[in-house]
Amino acid sequence: MTLSTKPLITDILIIGGGIAGLWSCTKLRQLGYSVIVLEKEQIGSGQTIKSQGIIHGGTKYSLHGALSLSAQAISNMPNIWRSSLNGTGDIDLQNVKILSHSHYLWSAGNLAGNLMSFFASNAMRTKVKKVTGKDAPIALQNNAVKGPIYQLNELVLDVPSLLQKLTSLCAGSILQSQKIELTKDSSDLTIAITDEFNIKAQCIVLTAGGGNQDLISSLNLENPPAQQSRPLHMVLAKDANLQPIYAHCLDGSPKPTPRLTITTHYAADGLPVWYLGGELAESGINRNQDEQITFAKNELKQLMPWLDLSAAKFASFMVDRFEPAQKGKIRPDEAFVEQHDNYLICWPTKLALAPDVANKIVDILTKEQITHITHHHFPEFPTPTIAKPIWDELL
Ligand SMILES: Cc1cc2nc3c(=O)[nH]c(=O)nc-3n(C[C@H](O)[C@H](O)[C@H](O)COP(=O)(O)OP(=O)(O)OC[C@H]3O[C@@H](n4cnc5c(N)ncnc54)[C@H](O)[C@@H]3O)c2cc1C
Repeated sequence: MTLSTKPLITDILIIGGGIAGLWSCTKLRQLGYSVIVLEKEQIGSGQTIKSQGIIHGGTKYSLHGALSLSAQAISNMPNIWRSSLNGTGDIDLQNVKILSHSHYLWSAGNLAGNLMSFFASNAMRTKVKKVTGKDAPIALQNNAVKGPIYQLNELVLDVPSLLQKLTSLCAGSILQSQKIELTKDSSDLTIAITDEFNIKAQCIVLTAGGGNQDLISSLNLENPPAQQSRPLHMVLAKDANLQPIYAHCLDGSPKPTPRLTITTHYAADGLPVWYLGGELAESGINRNQDEQITFAKNELKQLMPWLDLSAAKFASFMVDRFEPAQKGKIRPDEAFVEQHDNYLICWPTKLALAPDVANKIVDILTKEQITHITHHHFPEFPTPTIAKPIWDELL
């Protein structure tokens, strides 16, 4: 601690201002806790701003015919988010822009036959609805689409507007600092040292995404959880003629990931941008940028041959998803929160699971009888900047 840093005390110190940190801050403030969120870059600048914004309900995880544990853990999320979006939920997300009230599934011709019969089965009938004609996404209203199209009980959010709303709900609590160090004071209490302050808290919550690993190492915890990263090579295409689409394309592949996932976003100049993920992005980590863009163009040509993308501008980038380590580096099933003394180590593993992280944090605070004792008497921190959407960075 240096003499120039001012002391601050808070109930809860959250490190990392992505979706997990912001949702948790909002929820904890509502419960009366004083909360400080420390962010070393910009709000959402890790994985969150790059997310496609799909609020999954687990249907994608059912591709192999059974509702897996993930599907069960995540299946409530669309309803939880919908109630927040209409102002009746846990936190008030009214005015966050909903890009699509549904996500869709379409098949790459006959290849996806078995999967499609699964979606048509009784087990799935309450979760998916077959749509035709004008009810199908505009971009798929073409005679060349042979297989059925299903509407899922999932929605797609505009992540920049979600970050804006959460930042306003956390106003005064978010402190941006280049310097963030965790250290112990003489009575073995952890202090966070920033450019301006040294901060003590009853409980320290790590929601730093990929930054969790270094923070965990600096704390010398006993048996801390390990972090895994699963990389993606995402592609963006911008063209005035692109129609909105929010859909997974399935083929007959035994892999659990859809062949292609497309969401549509709007750049600062108003032009539509298709954001391409799914298996294209998973396998794309083995392709360089030129190869990946060529691959994406070919995929679109095969799956949507009627499209004219000759004037479209393309970009691609690599990004990691950070999660608690799993055997075989598989996708974790649910949000992860683990307590180590007065530290809570968190990875939501999906944007959609942010409410689950916050609920798990509240459960632990309640169990540990950590109540709100500190009044929010620190100075209101200036509103931090929010990360720029990736399509405005790259296109
Ligand atoms: C391309 C892509 C698409 C995705 N699409 C979806 C989707 O459609 N639906 C879905 O549910 N999920 C999706 N996900 C997953 C989802 O985005 C992540 O699970 C989620 O955003 C993780 O949020 P987080 O708050 O844990 O981490 P992050 O968003 O990574 O935030 C961590 C924050 O901590 C900050 N930080 C790091 N180290 C420190 C430190 N030492 N001190 C202070 N601050 C620090 C970072 O700057 C960052 O702002 C996607 C992920 C990717 C990469």
